Formats: sequence, structure tokens, C-alpha cells
Amino acid sequence: MPPKTTQSPLMRQYHALKEQVPGTLLFFRLGDFFEMFFDDAIVASRDLDITLTSRNKEKGEKIPMCGVPVRSADNYIAKLVEKGHRVAVCEQVEEATKGKKIVRREVTRIVTPGTASDLGLLKAGENNYLAAIIQRGNVTGFAYVDVSTGEFRMSEMGAAEAAAALEALQVREVLSPSAGPLFQTHPHTNSNGSTLRQMHTEVELWTFDHDCAERLLKDHYGLHSLDGLGVADRPTAVSAAGALLHYLRDTQRAALDHLDRPSWFLQQERMALDAVTVRNLEIVEPLFGGAKNSTLLHTVDQTCTAMGARLLRQQLLRPLLDQTEIEARSGGIEELCSETITRTEVARELQSIADIERLLARVSLGSATPRDVASLGQSLRCIPMLRGLIHKLRSARMRLVLERMEEMADIRDRILTTLDESPPLAISDGGVIAKGFDAELDELREISQNSRGFIARLETQERENTGIASLKVRHNNVFGFFIEVSKANAHRVPDSYSRKQTLVNAERFITPELKEYESKVVEAEQLILSKERTIFERVRAATAAESQRIRQVASAIAELDVLVGLAVVAAERKYVRPVFTDTGEIQIVGGRHPVIEALAEEDGFDRFIPNDAYLNSSDHLCALITGPNMGGKSTYLRQVALIAILAQIGSFVPASSARLPIVDRVFTRIGASDNLAMGRSTFMVEMTETSEILNTATANSLILLDEVGRGTSTFDGLSIAWAVVEDICDRVGAKTLFATHYHELTELADNLEGVFNLHVGVQESGDRIVFLRKVEAGKASRSYGIEVARLAGLPLEVINRARRVLQMHEQREISVSEELSPTDTEKPLQVSIFQADPGLVDELRCLDIDNLKPIDALNLLTAWQQRIAQTAKVPS
Ligand code: ADP
Ligand code: MG
Repeated sequence: MPPKTTQSPLMRQYHALKEQVPGTLLFFRLGDFFEMFFDDAIVASRDLDITLTSRNKEKGEKIPMCGVPVRSADNYIAKLVEKGHRVAVCEQVEEATKGKKIVRREVTRIVTPGTASDLGLLKAGENNYLAAIIQRGNVTGFAYVDVSTGEFRMSEMGAAEAAAALEALQVREVLSPSAGPLFQTHPHTNSNGSTLRQMHTEVELWTFDHDCAERLLKDHYGLHSLDGLGVADRPTAVSAAGALLHYLRDTQRAALDHLDRPSWFLQQERMALDAVTVRNLEIVEPLFGGAKNSTLLHTVDQTCTAMGARLLRQQLLRPLLDQTEIEARSGGIEELCSETITRTEVARELQSIADIERLLARVSLGSATPRDVASLGQSLRCIPMLRGLIHKLRSARMRLVLERMEEMADIRDRILTTLDESPPLAISDGGVIAKGFDAELDELREISQNSRGFIARLETQERENTGIASLKVRHNNVFGFFIEVSKANAHRVPDSYSRKQTLVNAERFITPELKEYESKVVEAEQLILSKERTIFERVRAATAAESQRIRQVASAIAELDVLVGLAVVAAERKYVRPVFTDTGEIQIVGGRHPVIEALAEEDGFDRFIPNDAYLNSSDHLCALITGPNMGGKSTYLRQVALIAILAQIGSFVPASSARLPIVDRVFTRIGASDNLAMGRSTFMVEMTETSEILNTATANSLILLDEVGRGTSTFDGLSIAWAVVEDICDRVGAKTLFATHYHELTELADNLEGVFNLHVGVQESGDRIVFLRKVEAGKASRSYGIEVARLAGLPLEVINRARRVLQMHEQREISVSEELSPTDTEKPLQVSIFQADPGLVDELRCLDIDNLKPIDALNLLTAWQQRIAQTAKVPS
């Protein structure tokens, strides 16, 4: 940076602004461009892939610089924010005047990953959460907000729950007073396929100060006390909410009328789905960058509005635990299921409703265009129709939706009578306010619009006066009105014309009459613009002031949308309403995997084969599912979990009947799942995840273990799998489905109360197999690996050799339960050695240890080792 004295006034202004917003890239408005300078320019040119130039006016000092046009700035800001930058937008806050004085500029907003409210920055079907957390003792104060919708909530919880909430909400940015993140979370992928990491933002500790936070919240919501929010004795939650609000005010620099009063939420009231489970079950994102239609969300999302899509996504990531609420939702769906016509008509109405929540947010933040406000008003037009349609429904949930869906004629009519039906994007384009709304405005428009007629008249008149047939009266934004005459005719103009501009082929003139008219028109146009601006601002502010009412209606619409969508799915795919019992039993008849079933239907593949599932807390606690690769084990596991999750968002489920308990958590672990991105070995990941399950699962949890133990050598893996199952049965008591290719594991069913065997059916014909995709009682007779390898096209010689090797192995097979049986402590693991060579035991028994020399002991050990090595060798 050059010394201040040598800086131009513009650069001085730049540096002063830059100091106000440390840690951001400053978009500095210069006419039609946003420019970036110094390091900002270097970073932005790299991340935006735009040309880096330099500004060289500072006495030989080269200043790196790059810029983007104002018109497309939002796209560039979006790109930078997606890459984890913060962008401060500095606007010119007064009109440029001809004098030397430089224009006043201010930072008007700061865009960060967690505070984006621009439609271009957001995915319609996804929330964009910002959270603030503070740790005091063993209490974590937790608040979160979606600025782009207005949702604002707070709570207090333990650290583990806070970490879970950060995951489940897929929070984009976390504020805390610490230098680094308090909790590590997994990155997730958005619907564009971009990987989103949680951004940590360190904020000053004082913003979490309780008194400070309380004052700020009271002031913002005009409250005398926060008691009404139910936080009288929750100082840590208040601190977090206050810090969040402070940050929002600092970055948004707008009224924030649309923010809800922060309401209390309890993470414990939701089914806990950790990030690994969410990913493995492909609830909202496809695994390994697969096709979008492989997710549960995609399969059951028949919503028509962005608000409904977001709500459904939220619900799937955080299913309910409260049976009353679950039943209320499914009661609504049941009614909509049978009301086919109403359902269809409601869906049709919903189609024409825009994203009211986000439009409202922009209205409140002051960034709404005339088109945004008009679109909000037009969306409200659907409400009377919707109310009429659901009026006749009887279920408690639909009545509640109706009650909350206020008609809001006042807000709607104000917008629709004030604004033109299809207003332009920018106020400065004119034509924002409807004709007939303001008499004075209409009069001014008359003057301005008549200029066309005036120009035509004047043109004819001047052509006659001068005899120049090609004379033209024209207008442009730089010079205003002028008369244009070709060079050849220029000598023929009268004296009353004064020259204004010379072009290559033409001369431009002005006359006193034109000048006078021009000032009248210019005046009218300026008046029109300022009048339009004032009226628009008034309707915008009036709409923002009704934010809370509008938000309630928006949330009723979202709920209606989700219920109707789920009813459509239920009716079209023959889902049933699950019954919840407190017997702890999972009893699914004819269960299907919702996603694979839907895909199979789409592609006209084989039909999906339904399967039953039965688990209870006693003798059917843990199912071991064996059978060949590709047999359908993983699918079966997942379909049970997906049915439990769907049930707990209140949805119907793909089955012919389902009796279910309320599940507090679902865990899903896949053996040897590739997680190189996290920089840990796959087996390490597998074991870390498994230990997480054993540490957190309860008797009300559902655990899916898919080939756990695969990431290490066979015997290790088998032993671990064995011990894990034992621990689940003996201590945890969670219902578990364990798919495994360790055939040996099936012996557990004989040894351990609660464990039972299932297998996926296979039909053998000759040396070929056909997958039946039917889950049946009992263990698989063998693992069919070679048949699968054959199906996969392995060369016949290899297959035949494999068969021979297998035969030899099978002849020497030793029962694992004999080796591992947990009750039989007299048989340690090494027993297999002695079984392989019974002579060893006798030799050991006869040894006279007291008189054995160390060297002889060593020699003996070597001899035994050689013998074991020989017996273990596979004879060819
Ligand atoms: P495994 O885990 O035993 O190797 P998967 O569950 O991955 O087998 O299933 C293999 C394939 O079989 C999948 O592509 C799936 O689409 C199909 N499949 C699984 N279960 C069924 C079923 N019940 N009906 C029809 N197809 C199925
Ligand atoms: Mg599998």
C-alpha cells in the first residue's frame, strides 16, 4: 500500500472502507463495475477465472485490479461465497455529479455462506442455515437462522447434541468466539453437486454477552422482556441468539423484519440421523456422486413449491419422535389420499405459488425488485382458492392448516393495485407503478410519453423549415434531445440551431424550443422515477411490516404442499399408513425399498420383490443376513430403515402393512466404505463409525451394519463383527440388521439369545444361480461367491480352479463358534493351532519346563512353527 499522502482520493476512500470490513473481499462500485484491488483482486481473479489487470495511476505504483459488471455481479458473488469467501458489497450511495468531488460510497451488505439471501445464491429446495454456538460449562447455547426465509430458533443442549444439530441442519456457517470450529462436521453436497463445507467464523466474545444479547433481542422485537420466548432461565441460548442477530445486523445492514422471534427447539425431540447414515441411506444426496434420482428425497418429493420442498427435506433429515405429531401428519395424508380430486386441485393451485418465504426475506432486506414484490402479491391470490378447496376436509391437521392460512386480502390487494402487473426488474427502468394508482404520476407519464408525438411533429416542422428531408429529431441518454443533420446538409441549417456534437457523417444541433421541451421532459421523467420509487418503497415497507403474518401463511402452504405431495406418493405407489405400537416390535409385511422400487418402475425393469421384516426386543433382536453378493442384502437393510424414517416424518410407507415402534436413532454403517477424502484409512473409518454406534445407540435405536469388518483380514474382520454383535445383544439392546458375507457369523444364532438368521434366496440350476431377491428364514447354505464371479464373467479356468481350492478349504473347515464362543473361556483363540496339529498338545503337556534351557525352548518353538506352517499350506 502506498503512503496515504500519495494516494488518490478514490484510493483513500477505498482503504477507509476496506478497513471497516476485514476478512472480506471488497466489491468496490465504480460506475457500471464492481472493482477489486490489491490482494482481493488476486484472489478474485483466480477464483472467478477473470483477467487480472492493474491500475497504474498511482505514480508508477501498480495496483492489481479486476472487476465484474454490476449486472452480473450476483453470479460472481455466488461463486466466491460458494468457495468460502465473504464478500463486502460497496455501493455508490449518491448520484455522481459533474464536480470533482468523489461520490460517497458505503458498504451496503456483506455476503457470507451463511447469510446469503439472494435467489441466485441459493438452492430453491434447500435451507441455508447460519448458527451461533457458545459453550458455557457443559451447556451449549445454540441458535440458528435462515436469513433467506426468516426461520430463527434457539436452544440449549449438550455438546454431542449440538454437533448432531449442526450436521442435521447442514449448517453452512457457524459463529463462535473460538479461533477454530468447536465441532468437526462432514461436508455435504448440494443439489448442484458442489461440496459444501461448514465455514467457521470467529466473532468477538462480547457479542455473546448475555445482557448485550438480551438488550439486542428486546430492541429488535420491541419486547419488554424475553419471558414470552420461554427463555427466562436459558441465558446461554439467549447469548447465542443475540450474537446471531448482531452478526446479521452487521452483515445485512437492513431491517430484518422477516426474522421470526427465535423459538425454542429441542434437538432431543428429533430422530438423530448422523451424517454417515444420511449419506449411506442416500436420504437427500446420492452416494458417490450418483444420479440425483437415487435419493429418498427425490423419490418422495412431489411438492409443488420451493417452500414445500425445503420443508420436506428438513423433515427427512430430522424425523419426529413425538407420536402425536406424527399421527397428526399421517392423519392429514390419509384424508388427502382418499380425496383424489381435492388433492389434484390443491396441487394445481400450488403450482402457481412462488417462493413466498424468500421473496419476503428480500422485501425485508430491501433487496426485492419490483418483480419480486409483484410475484409475492400474485402468489397470495391463490389463497382464497386453496382455502375453498381444503375447507371441506375434516382431519385435525388439515383444519389446522386452514386456520393458519389466513386470506390476507389487505396485503395482496395493496400490492396488486399499486404495482403494474408485470413490472420491470429495476425501478430505474420505469413502469413499476400501476396505471390509475396515482393521478399525478399518470399526468407526468402523459408528458413524458407524449414526447414521441412531439418529436414526430417537430421533425416534420423542421424538415419543412430547412428543406432537409433527412433531418432527424432524436434522443439519447447522454445528450438528451437533438436534431441530427448529415454533414452534406449541415450548411443549410438556420442560425437558431446551435451545434452540440460533430460525428463522422453528421452534425447534431439543439434549438431553444427543443431545450425547453427537454427540460420539461427530463423533469417529468425524474419526477416519475422518484415518485415510482417512493410509492414502491411504501408498498415494500408496508409488506415487510406484515412479515409475521405472511410467514405464517407461507409455512401453512409449505405444510399443505408436503402433505399433498406425500399423499400423491402414497396413493400412486400404494403405500400404507404405519401403525405405531409400544411393544418394541418392527413388523413389516411386504416391505419395499422406496427408491429402487420407483427406479425399477421407471426403467421398466423387473418388478421389485417385497419382503417382510420382523424384529423385537427379545428373541428377534439382531438379524444376520447372509447370501450371495448381489442377492439383495443391502437393499433389504436399507428398506427397513427408510420405512422407519418415512413413518416418522408422518408419511405412509412402502409396504402392505407396517407396525412400528418409535425409533430414536438410525445408524447405518457400511464396511470398507471409501472415505479417502477425510484422510483416514477405510478400516479406521469403519471402526471409528462402529465405535460411535456402540457408544450412542440405545434400546430404541435401529442399527444397520452392512458388511462391517470387511476392511481388514478375514479372521480379524470376523472376530470384530462377532464381538460387535455380542455387544449389541448383551449391552446395547438395539434392533439390528447385519448383512454379512462372513458365513461363519451365522453360528452366532445358535449361541446368542436374540440373534437369528435370514438369507436372501437363490435358485441353483446346475452350476448357475438365479437371485430370487426374497428374504427367508435361516442362513444361506453357502456364500455362492464363485457363482457370482462366474456371472461377472471371470474366465472359466479361474472359476474351476477356485472351485477346487474351495473344496480343499472346506474339508479343513473349523467351526468358528468353537473358537470364539464367548461363554467358553477355556478355549482361547489359539485353539485352532492345536486342532490343526493335535500332537502339539501332548508334547506341551509332557514338557518339563523347570529343566528346559532357554535355547531348547526357542528351538522347540521354531520346530512347532514350521510344522504349523506346513499343515496350513493348501495342497494343490
Ligand atoms: P447385496 O447387498 O446382497 O450384494 P444389493 O442389495 O446390493 O445386494 O442388491 C443387488 C441388486 O439387486 C440391486 O441392484 C437391487 O436393485 C436389486 N434388488 C435388491 N433387492 C431387490 C428386490 N427385493 N427386488 C428387486 N430387485 C432387488
Ligand atoms: Mg451389499
